[in-house]
Amino acid sequence: MADTKYIFVTGGVSSSLGKGIIAASLAKLLQARGYKVTIQKFDPYINIDPGTLNPYEHGECYVTEDGAETDLDLGHYERFLNVNTSQANNVTTGRIYQSVIQKERRGEYLGKTVQIIPHITNEIKDRMQILGRSGNFDIVITEIGGTVGDIESFPFIEAVRQMKWEQGEHNTLIIHLTLVPYLAAAKELKTKPTQHSVKTLMEAGVSADILVCRTEHELSDELREKLALFCNVKKEEVIQSIDAEVIYDVPNNMLEEGLDRVALKKLELPQKHAPNLKHWNSFLKRLKNPKSEITIGLVGKYVELQDSYKSILEAFVHAGAENEVKVNIQSIKAESISKAEPEKRLAALDGILVAPGFGERGTEGKLRAIKYAREQNIPFFGICLGMQLAVIEFARNVLHLQEANSTEMRKNTPYPVIDIMEEQKAVEDMGGTMRLGAWNCNLLSGSLAEAIYGNKKISERHRHRYELNNQYKKQLEDAGLCCSGYNEETNLVEIIELPTHPWFIGVQYHPEYKSTVDSPHPLFVSFIKAAKKYAAQK
Ligand code: GLN
Repeated sequence: MADTKYIFVTGGVSSSLGKGIIAASLAKLLQARGYKVTIQKFDPYINIDPGTLNPYEHGECYVTEDGAETDLDLGHYERFLNVNTSQANNVTTGRIYQSVIQKERRGEYLGKTVQIIPHITNEIKDRMQILGRSGNFDIVITEIGGTVGDIESFPFIEAVRQMKWEQGEHNTLIIHLTLVPYLAAAKELKTKPTQHSVKTLMEAGVSADILVCRTEHELSDELREKLALFCNVKKEEVIQSIDAEVIYDVPNNMLEEGLDRVALKKLELPQKHAPNLKHWNSFLKRLKNPKSEITIGLVGKYVELQDSYKSILEAFVHAGAENEVKVNIQSIKAESISKAEPEKRLAALDGILVAPGFGERGTEGKLRAIKYAREQNIPFFGICLGMQLAVIEFARNVLHLQEANSTEMRKNTPYPVIDIMEEQKAVEDMGGTMRLGAWNCNLLSGSLAEAIYGNKKISERHRHRYELNNQYKKQLEDAGLCCSGYNEETNLVEIIELPTHPWFIGVQYHPEYKSTVDSPHPLFVSFIKAAKKYAAQK
């Protein structure tokens, strides 16, 4: 008998139904009942990880403490559960095949023909159980990316079928997330797409234990009964997931629908106590009752797509609630900040954040935004590329090194104030080769950064190849830029700030990855506080 119980979340009918949020919400409820829970995501695409994907393809690339470049759903898991994920929490088809092929080359299959079943499915099942085997978790929730019926998902669904068979009835649970669309012309909710997707799942030998139905309207009793009858579940196993005002409402919505209770019952686990959501609900209360409003400009290259800056947007939600202020985010395409009148896009803002990014496009617009924020004393927050550009802007306009640049943008710049790290020079492979994951950082006594963190030593997550060039450090500091955080082992500058400005901070790392509901990131909290103050003085 297995000690760890496995819950699988599959999706039907359509993509983008929010499997990640449902998985995270269920995990939150189980955690709040006293269970040790983790979530992992299995993605059917061939890339080894999403690190090489353009944000337009798949949204933000999320980075874990151990330096894995992962799907953005892992960000939701961490934000909901306040528990770190790792490399093991995100697996792609590419990684499965890579590992099977490596084993084949090493002769580990002893001359056998290597096949999807059992070799690929064994590899998938093995990875499904890595976290379970660690002994750290009572329940492991595995989200299967994609939609049932996709060619790409088949080996994963087959592995789920085998897991159910091998682990036994009450040790695995399959939750199928589907869409119940509303047809305006007929004024009716329709169950047929759900019936079909449950049938597709059954054709693969897997029956859904619980249906979670995404819907824009309440599901009537009659409709629940119909779904239950056609889909082989009990009425109480039909869970409604109605569109929520904010994603953080979903755990309470699922609690009301009894998702956690039904799941525990089916897994034959005790209900323990009612979920303790005290902290969660006080966050929601603050989030929904703001005392004032501010507007932050998010200057980036991929602003059309909401998911590109997911963790930054969520960090603002956490920091807004902490400050009891509604944070309106105005997405500003960097290229739209014109040379002639940058203030046109920026004057009404209470704070400016320049986003991370790669490549040259949009950098001149970002530099204009930084200059404006610096000169007008508007709170400024630069993340990764945003920090690098703040250094370039300072070098150009304060040190008068007109052609200062990053060697990423201009290889032969006469003033490479941002340069590629020595150890990055020989790197040829693009995947998984940046400076990644958690690194320590020491904070300068008396700096704003130290005051914000309330600590002298911190650790933050990285994802970049370029760095502040230490050859320019003294010159920058002499002109008033304070390098307030550095890594002791490498001597690399991690934070810059301007002591003459009310709030001007650039960080080489990504603080947004570590902001959670239970623990909003101090830099975001402080930035919003500064923006609130700026707004009040305007
Ligand atoms: N392109 C920059 C670098 O590689 C910044 C990366 C980022 O913003 N994540 O260093």
